[in-house]
Amino acid sequence: MEKKAERKEQNGSFSRRNFLEVGGAAIAGSALAVTPAAAMSGNGAKRAGANSIKTYRTLGRTDFMVSDISVGGVPLRDTAVVRHAYDQGINYFDVAEGYGRGAAESAVGEAMAHMERSEIFITTKIGISGSDTEETVRDRFMTCLGRMQTEYIDAFYMHGPGSVATLDTPAFHAATDKLKAEGKLRHIGISCHGAGRGSSDTMEEILLAAATDGRFDLMLFSYNFLNREMGDKVLAACKEHNVGTTAMKTKPGTLKPTPLDPDNLTDAQQQSVDQTVSRGRTREQAIESLRGRIQRQEEGWQNTQPFMDKFGITTKDELDLASVQWVVQNPDMHTTCIAANSIDNMNKYLPLSGSTPADLNLALLSDYGRVISDRYCRQGCDACTGACPAGLQVSTVMRYAYYFENQAREKDAMVLYRELDGNDASHCLGCSAPCNGSCPWGLDVQANMLEAHARLSL
Ligand code: SF4
Ligand code: SF4
Repeated sequence: MEKKAERKEQNGSFSRRNFLEVGGAAIAGSALAVTPAAAMSGNGAKRAGANSIKTYRTLGRTDFMVSDISVGGVPLRDTAVVRHAYDQGINYFDVAEGYGRGAAESAVGEAMAHMERSEIFITTKIGISGSDTEETVRDRFMTCLGRMQTEYIDAFYMHGPGSVATLDTPAFHAATDKLKAEGKLRHIGISCHGAGRGSSDTMEEILLAAATDGRFDLMLFSYNFLNREMGDKVLAACKEHNVGTTAMKTKPGTLKPTPLDPDNLTDAQQQSVDQTVSRGRTREQAIESLRGRIQRQEEGWQNTQPFMDKFGITTKDELDLASVQWVVQNPDMHTTCIAANSIDNMNKYLPLSGSTPADLNLALLSDYGRVISDRYCRQGCDACTGACPAGLQVSTVMRYAYYFENQAREKDAMVLYRELDGNDASHCLGCSAPCNGSCPWGLDVQANMLEAHARLSL
């Protein structure tokens, strides 16, 4: 209780000096210079200081004033992270039934006594399957509610509907309508990762259909400086229909590949060689095949180096911060979910709240985007799916590779990959790759799939 009272009294301003001191080396170089917007608004005054929230935005027709940075609960397991985020002014917590099999919801629930319920917005999600009924949806909702130790949930999302038709699932709407009438639920929304197996709908089509549907008040989707073409269209539709917008997968940048030393292979390289050998090739042939792939990646990387050198971006951290800042500064994206795996990770991104990079710097990031564009899978466009005779969902494999590489979720990613149950990139070994040439952004689909396979195979 003392915390709540203390928090309500906090207010203050934000300075570039604070940002640089507290953010430390987090924002480096002129490309990432920040002009903070010191606007303090929202549900009560929040904490001052470099690591506190500076900006709150109206979350579409929910009318809730949401912090521009929020808790992304995929890796959330520690309730101390929730308490810390709340103390810094974060008021949006995004979890799901499936995140850690309920552990993320429990982490929020265990922090509930620390927080003023009316000041926070809690979202959870369930994936809908054909076997769900109104009763199963309700039962699952009630289990989520129990784990979160609260009387109501602010928004219940349909988690990753794989087609436009799924948005209409009667069981979901019947159950959520009743839960709303009972005061246990306030809004519904969707998150989207792209088409499901057997669906030809794109992620853009699913998101646009949800934005115009009228029943969904919120959505969570992938938005970053490399997929802005789709993202901006969806944001415009959300603005027109007053739908709340929340961002995930905001860091598409890649790192230089590890050079190949045949006598000292990395774990991922060794896995790749072992897999090729298990398919009847010699070790030498496997090494040569791997060398070719790494060389192709290195050639692409060479093109980005001048940009990185010129603007002082030398580490993945710096690139990640610039990428997230690009999303946070867009007022049409109401909040940006940050992977809440630790207090350190939250602290790393909190100084971006309220920040506004100079126009010049946005242009620089856009230049970088052009350079690496042909190495980033937009995950959900699915334009290459029809070109694969094995019917592999390339974007799903690429998404798991993203979890592994960009979200520090190695174990989750590998488990998810195993659950593809053979519909994975092992088919790409020895394939003549008719998929290459099918990607509108020029990705070498086979090379990316093989790289993902080497990383994700247990
Ligand atoms: S590889 Fe290209 S076509 Fe395939 S899902 Fe990714 S971005 Fe889309
Ligand atoms: S390389 Fe892989 S994704 Fe491409 S067509 Fe062959 S099996 Fe399908």
